[in-house]
Amino acid sequence: MSGILVYALHYEGAFNKNSLGAVSEGARLAGELGGECHVLVLGDRAGLPDDLCASLGRYGAAKVFRVEGPEGLAQPVVDAMAKIIADDGLGYALFGGGLLGFEIGAGLTARLDAGVCMEVTSVRVEDGKLVSERPILGDSSVSDVHYRAGVGVIIGRLNAFEVKEGGEGTAAVEDLAVEFAPHSLKATMVSRGEQRGAEVNIEDASILIAGGRGLGKAEGFEALEDLAGALGGAVAATRAVVDAGWYSYSAQIGQTGKTVSPKLYLAAGISGAIQHKVGMMSSENIVAINKDANAPIFEFSDLGIVGDLNKIVPKLTEAVKARKGG
Ligand SMILES: Cc1cc2nc3c(=O)[nH]c(=O)nc-3n(C[C@H](O)[C@H](O)[C@H](O)COP(=O)(O)OP(=O)(O)OC[C@H]3O[C@@H](n4cnc5c(N)ncnc54)[C@H](O)[C@@H]3O)c2cc1C
Repeated sequence: MSGILVYALHYEGAFNKNSLGAVSEGARLAGELGGECHVLVLGDRAGLPDDLCASLGRYGAAKVFRVEGPEGLAQPVVDAMAKIIADDGLGYALFGGGLLGFEIGAGLTARLDAGVCMEVTSVRVEDGKLVSERPILGDSSVSDVHYRAGVGVIIGRLNAFEVKEGGEGTAAVEDLAVEFAPHSLKATMVSRGEQRGAEVNIEDASILIAGGRGLGKAEGFEALEDLAGALGGAVAATRAVVDAGWYSYSAQIGQTGKTVSPKLYLAAGISGAIQHKVGMMSSENIVAINKDANAPIFEFSDLGIVGDLNKIVPKLTEAVKARKGG
């Protein structure tokens, strides 16, 4: 029961960052347990070529089960995962989160009568078993969740697991025939799309320029869009400003928004409330601009700039453009 099964979602010929994070985490944990990380991919066979599936080996997957079936629906994935877990005697199923991850994880839990923990931000091995860490009480505390049932289901918070590309590994790809339950095929995918910002999906962006109430008004975001454009990044926001209608809800970072982990997170006019912090604290480099030297955001920033963002942001944009020769 030391093996881990991860479901990897693919879209337009690639796996999303959230799924790759789950595969990396599954491989790390399986290694510590003395087992292997196996991955399920499900969809139209033509959209899942050998090299794409085998590439999951670079993130630590030992074996990839390729199942032909309807894409983007939860129940067929539940059928396939339940079969693989039973056939191979795997101990855990791990998901990166997101709406589909939640739906599949819940369905699998019911099907296997498993133990489940969701919104997990970290997992560790203790006495040969996995323990999930889940923030509680508005993220002010963390609870440890142990699994008593035979199979444990772990549903991560979106993008909580770090993508770790470990070199040249290739995973063995095995085609698996799964007989779907009649009810699993009763839903059909009508259309599919991804919510995107101007050009980049904020969950995949490696540079995020985030704005808060310190911008003063909706138009304040124009300066952030200029800076994001110059740096090749995307714009994000706090709940305070999306609630005020200054920016789109799809850009909200935090407890009730998205979780991101870009290489650079620049926070302009953001106080650093705990509910915002939980969505961006795993960013590699945090830079904050705030006119209040005592703003909480400076407590977890790598670089803090005390000053008026209206003066600093345009100067930064100018400097970036000048450096890039435009
Ligand atoms: C249940 C719950 C869930 C929540 N979920 C979320 C969530 O998902 N995401 C989220 O972001 N929040 C969330 N919140 C809200 C959160 O508590 C804060 O209210 C919010 O993050 C504050 O947003 P802000 O930093 O933009 O505004 P403020 O806290 O008002 O901070 C504005 C900052 O701008 C600075 N400033 C002002 N003018 C300038 C200037 N000219 N130049 C530089 N700096 C300036 C100020 O000094 C201040 O620090 C949640 C709250 C609750 C209760």
